[in-house]
Amino acid sequence: MASIGFIGLGRMGSAMSRRLIDVGHEVWVFDINPAAVKSIADVGGHAAASAAEAASHRDFVVTMLPNGPDVEETLFGIPDVASALAKDTLYIDMSTIAPDATDKIARRLSDMGVRMIDAPVGGTSEFAERGQLLILAGGDPRDVETARPVFDAVGREIIYCGPSGAGTRTKLVNNYMSTALNVLTAEALTFAEAAGLDLERTVKILTGTTAGKGFLTGAYDRKIFSGDISPEFGLGLASKDLNLALTYGANLNVSLGVGAAASQVYAMSRADGFTQNDWSAVFETLRLKAALPGKTFNA
Ligand code: NAD
Repeated sequence: MASIGFIGLGRMGSAMSRRLIDVGHEVWVFDINPAAVKSIADVGGHAAASAAEAASHRDFVVTMLPNGPDVEETLFGIPDVASALAKDTLYIDMSTIAPDATDKIARRLSDMGVRMIDAPVGGTSEFAERGQLLILAGGDPRDVETARPVFDAVGREIIYCGPSGAGTRTKLVNNYMSTALNVLTAEALTFAEAAGLDLERTVKILTGTTAGKGFLTGAYDRKIFSGDISPEFGLGLASKDLNLALTYGANLNVSLGVGAAASQVYAMSRADGFTQNDWSAVFETLRLKAALPGKTFNA
């Protein structure tokens, strides 16, 4: 069993450190909130008086803090955790933070001879309590393998995302999509209710269409990834439907901001000459705008 320092005992960190204790690891915990430390000490954790004490002489040190500045402050502030990390300690940041913060931290630790992996998680504290998190790991694959004892205790699935920073980047892309989709879903359901539709019936219908099933395993997978933008559903028609919805929604005083932004992208795509192509061609418009290399299509 491993000796682990765990820093950050909020909703996620307290559930994760409890799991690590439950499976038999020796866990030293620290949080700026003494009550959080006490609640983990009460279930078998060792209360550390500082983050540096939690981190000294451990096989693994995990941080689960709100944001990048908190992680940087903990590692490099005064007193600092970074210099308390032994050369054979593996440092794992499981917080969700900005990629450039991960890159900066990884570089500074590497200069000090400390190994780090970024491993943000998917799933809420309920998942953490059952050891069912999705773990998105970036770093040296050997280090990710070394971290197994920690990951196996808290996660159901460990995905190797690529080199240092790839875990953080994957998490951000995932959360971009899920958080925006949350608002789009709320917009559509508000729209349905304002239009006088039965909400339960509407949800059932949307669940069975592209609206609910999404595009990744649909049009994108089937067509545009393989360079096919021949129209299954024409982009011009899709754009027309979205604008019909926006006009009707405005009449009902429903705020459809995500839809309005989407309408701008369809307009750009039409200007790019994709009107007669498949509606998935918006992907190519955005790729070109991001200066990514254009694809060759059999339109
Ligand atoms: P939280 O706000 O509940 O907990 C954060 C904890 O960090 C608090 O206990 C706070 O006292 C402590 N803390 C802050 N600064 C500190 C410092 N300098 N030293 C020691 N402790 C410090 O947050 P959470 O919900 O546990 O989330 C933690 C991270 O996990 C975040 O990056 C979040 O985005 C991510 N995350 C959360 C969820 C979720 O469902 N809650 C899911 C996936 C990922």
